[in-house]
Amino acid sequence: MRVLIGGGTGFVGRELTKLLKQKGHEVTVISRQAGPGKITWADLESGGLPPCDGAVNLAGENIMNPLRWWNDSYKKDLFTSRVDTTKTLAEAIASSPSPPHTWVLVTGVACYRPSLVTQYTEESDWTPFDLLSRLVKEWEGAAKLPDEPAKITRQVVVRPGAVLGRDGGAMQQMLTPFWFGVGGPLGSGRQPFPWIHVSDLAGIIAHALEPTTQLPSDQPVVLNGVAPTQVTNYEFTKELGRIMHRPTIIPVPGFALDCLLGTERAVILTQGQKVVPKRTLESGFRYQFSDISAALREIVGS
Ligand code: NDP
Repeated sequence: MRVLIGGGTGFVGRELTKLLKQKGHEVTVISRQAGPGKITWADLESGGLPPCDGAVNLAGENIMNPLRWWNDSYKKDLFTSRVDTTKTLAEAIASSPSPPHTWVLVTGVACYRPSLVTQYTEESDWTPFDLLSRLVKEWEGAAKLPDEPAKITRQVVVRPGAVLGRDGGAMQQMLTPFWFGVGGPLGSGRQPFPWIHVSDLAGIIAHALEPTTQLPSDQPVVLNGVAPTQVTNYEFTKELGRIMHRPTIIPVPGFALDCLLGTERAVILTQGQKVVPKRTLESGFRYQFSDISAALREIVGS
């Protein structure tokens, strides 16, 4: 299978590329920079979709970029880097004479309103209620194909929680404070912490790309990209401290995170959603890392 991956140079993209190549598939990455095995977004716009059997979009300005202050210019970049790349790829698929059999967009669980009690599956209704949920709405809207190509191309949206892995994402920023013994629960610590190991997220995307995978006929099919066991931020923090043999006594107050990150962004850490991967499991996907201990042992030990 030939797979085209927008943003394939990133944290999730590198893991997905490794997995697809191990399975014997060919990968071409769409990037802002030209290079071997890559095309640029401008190439895609001018030359159309290269021959491919599957397409994925993972491109987007990092939402937790520690080098960027939370202001209008950063927020605009978060939107355009996701919505515009998704639209470009969807338009290239729609106008291709031989569109791929599957088109996968990776968004996030920020569409589900944070709650200590409500459980969300892929079937849960939601309407935008804050900046990040508006982003998911626009982003997923940009991926929709018109009727004709939609008859040929299966559209899948994967919504991951925090992606955990050694080489990027949240863990990269967390390991140093935990190592120095200053890691602690964030805010109340009672908020759910939806998470997934990066290998499993790559696995879910690869599973969705397989034409033999049985998925519901919805267009798009939504798959929650979270682990099947749930933890709170407190439980996650205590487990990471235990595995690293470090104390996790000092809580990080919510207002400090609001000041440091901006309230609209800090909600990712100070609030959370209980997300269940109902359809992901029903589709036959088998997790490598179903519980947080196994995932953290692999990450910290590697
Ligand atoms: P990365 O931060 O690693 O970024 C992926 C790629 O996006 C980069 O390699 C880069 O490719 C491209 N990119 C970055 N900034 C821009 C920009 N301003 N304009 C266009 N392209 C840009 O992302 P991840 O791999 O961590 O995540 C993949 C997707 O999954 C993202 O959309 C993210 O929002 C989503 N997600 C990630 C989570 C996580 O915990 N990591 C959690 C939930 C959702 P290049 O430089 O080659 O152009």
